[in-house]
Amino acid sequence: MASPVAAQARSLLRDVALRPAFLAARSQAVQLTSRRWLNLQEYQSKKLMSDNGVRVQRFFVADTANEALEAAKKLNAKEIVLKAQILAGGRGKGVFNSGLKGGVHLTKDPKVVGQLAKQMIGYNLATKQTPKEGVKVNKVMVAEALDISRETYLAILMDRSCNGPVLVGSPTGGVDIEEVAASNPELIFKEQIDIFEGIKNSQAQRMAENLGFLGPLKNQAADQIKKLYNLFLKVDATQVEVNPFGETPEGQVVCFDAKINFDDNAEFRQKDIFAMDDKSENEPIENEAARYDLKYIGLDGNIACFVNGAGLAMATCDIIFLNGGKPANFLDLGGRVKETQVYQAFKLLTADPKVEAILVNIFGGIVNCAIIANGITKACRELELKVPLVVRLEGTNVQEAQNILSNSGLHIMSAVDLEDAAKKAVASVSKK
Ligand code: GDP
Ligand code: MN
Repeated sequence: MASPVAAQARSLLRDVALRPAFLAARSQAVQLTSRRWLNLQEYQSKKLMSDNGVRVQRFFVADTANEALEAAKKLNAKEIVLKAQILAGGRGKGVFNSGLKGGVHLTKDPKVVGQLAKQMIGYNLATKQTPKEGVKVNKVMVAEALDISRETYLAILMDRSCNGPVLVGSPTGGVDIEEVAASNPELIFKEQIDIFEGIKNSQAQRMAENLGFLGPLKNQAADQIKKLYNLFLKVDATQVEVNPFGETPEGQVVCFDAKINFDDNAEFRQKDIFAMDDKSENEPIENEAARYDLKYIGLDGNIACFVNGAGLAMATCDIIFLNGGKPANFLDLGGRVKETQVYQAFKLLTADPKVEAILVNIFGGIVNCAIIANGITKACRELELKVPLVVRLEGTNVQEAQNILSNSGLHIMSAVDLEDAAKKAVASVSKK
């Protein structure tokens, strides 16, 4: 499971050169914005896969150690694999705050499954992709273990530079794919898929061959790849990642891990999938923001940013850094804005004690700036805003919006453009 890994690999593949000064904060912001997409647990993704003809191991899900023990007995398998269910990848090499090492364990003894599950459920698992303190494990997957003779990597992503889906694969799987992309880029293979024509048999075959599947395994792997692509389309995924996409000594191609992200814009036609959304791993403030159709991203600086769109969030992040400041958070307002949302947004932004200034950067294409301006003045009055507020509005109804702000009698700093806004916000913080 590794969405940020795939995101990083994707950037590498695209040769995106991120300026080092912004790299850390930006990649943090990029990773966090990827939470915009619904992310399912491995067991949920695997259920979707098996329902669509993709080969996964037999498994049960348990939320107590006793249930895990019973599941292990019921599986009646030669060997069992026990896997902590969290949304982050790198579980195999993770560590629990119970002291247990490894979020993925193999054993032949169901009793051991029970003992291990006891040290997993209710404890935090920290991996390369989680915050330092880790993420609490509420469920474990108990699956029939299979021997793996070879591990490869396979993903299907929506890629802007390809204007559609792209198949990404590497014969070196199981490991961190961004390391492979960095050290052995020649081992990363891509197949651009025409969304209208769909995946061609020749593309699936070529990928299977590039992944090193030989003889009858090549057809089997190609068949699994086509089924994964069909699933990708059917569920409106933005990403399907299988690492490892492996083969067994018995000659079977199996998806040993699964990570699927979904396009939030497709929620209206994927109701069953979105109903599975497990929000227990979110920060409470993210859930609170989601109630008002807002997206919250927490960072560790002191300038709160209120923006519309992930692209504008990135640009705002860069320009604050360029001017010597650090963003405290981002609150992303979607396209359809109501005055009450602006009020709620300010409430959330100022709830963070690190915040010393607020920067509003709204580009009104669909958004009506006057609505934002009214929301801002209302929020300032009702929340008795204490920190400096810099506002940059551009686009639809901007003149009316400027009038609302300047006639409000409130101390609001207007900015002519993004650069000006960032300078004013950074200055208002450092003056303190
Ligand atoms: P991740 O660490 O979060 O990516 O979790 P994975 O599901 O990928 O598991 C980590 C590693 O455990 C895999 O790369 C495999 O090497 C190993 N593993 C997982 N399931 C099995 C299994 O059924 N049999 C064997 N032999 N190894 C497994
Ligand atoms: Mn994995």
